[in-house]
Amino acid sequence: IIPPLYIITPTYRRPEQIAELTRLAQTLMHVQNVHWLVIEDAKEKTPHVTELLSRTGISFEHLLAPMPESYKLRKGSKPRGVSNRNRGLEWLRENATSGVFYFADDDNTYDIKIFEEMRSTEKVSMWPVGLCTKTGLSTPILKNGSFSGFFDGWIAGRKFPVDMAGFAVSVKFLLERPRAAMPYKPGFEEDGFLKSLAPFEPKQIEFKAQNCTKILVWHTQTRKNEPALAIDTAKYGNTNLIMLR
Ligand code: UDP
Ligand code: MN
Repeated sequence: IIPPLYIITPTYRRPEQIAELTRLAQTLMHVQNVHWLVIEDAKEKTPHVTELLSRTGISFEHLLAPMPESYKLRKGSKPRGVSNRNRGLEWLRENATSGVFYFADDDNTYDIKIFEEMRSTEKVSMWPVGLCTKTGLSTPILKNGSFSGFFDGWIAGRKFPVDMAGFAVSVKFLLERPRAAMPYKPGFEEDGFLKSLAPFEPKQIEFKAQNCTKILVWHTQTRKNEPALAIDTAKYGNTNLIMLR
């Protein structure tokens, strides 16, 4: 009876990957009726990821969506997670008929309450995101309970200056918009995707988290770690210990 939540998580192979996905998996283990779409920016599935997913007991799909080479070779900022999220949308179009979807990056921090907030989304819902940009917060602004604008450290002429972690969309609403997709445009992924849901205007946003007064998700970022050195198994044994590099 409760609407399903489709959680679309882009991920890619790096030393931090299993740590991030373990934390997110164990968050989602507290949420009912979740289908987790874990989509790797890779040509082959990382076996450690497959193994982690299967032992969580969460209902999941492990899909692949490598970033196109042209973007990968590009100097400067890259469209991180875009091929993955578009693959997730494609999966929804083929497999889902109801419920709500949410783009949950592997490195953010989620209060499990946010999943119950988003579950009742009819079109597009939004809420505050902590630790986001230089202002440390990104949120819709409400005056007397109705929409009056957005607060974000980087407005940049965007119609929807929001973070990826700050909105959810109903599956039916997506299915009624066959062309909706995320653009390969660093910094403008959220804005581009939300604009592609036209017709949809900011005044139609459903506000969650007590009218955007509670922070239930944080845009945390994990510091890049040095790749681990291979253990000298001849010296130390532990031949079964294989680190992700
Ligand atoms: N990501 C990816 N491929 C990459 C870089 C990132 O699939 O080459 C994923 C990453 O795992 C995360 C999302 O895309 O779920 C956003 O990336 P990141 O967290 O690095 O971006 P930031 O939070 O710094 O904007
Ligand atoms: Mn991130």
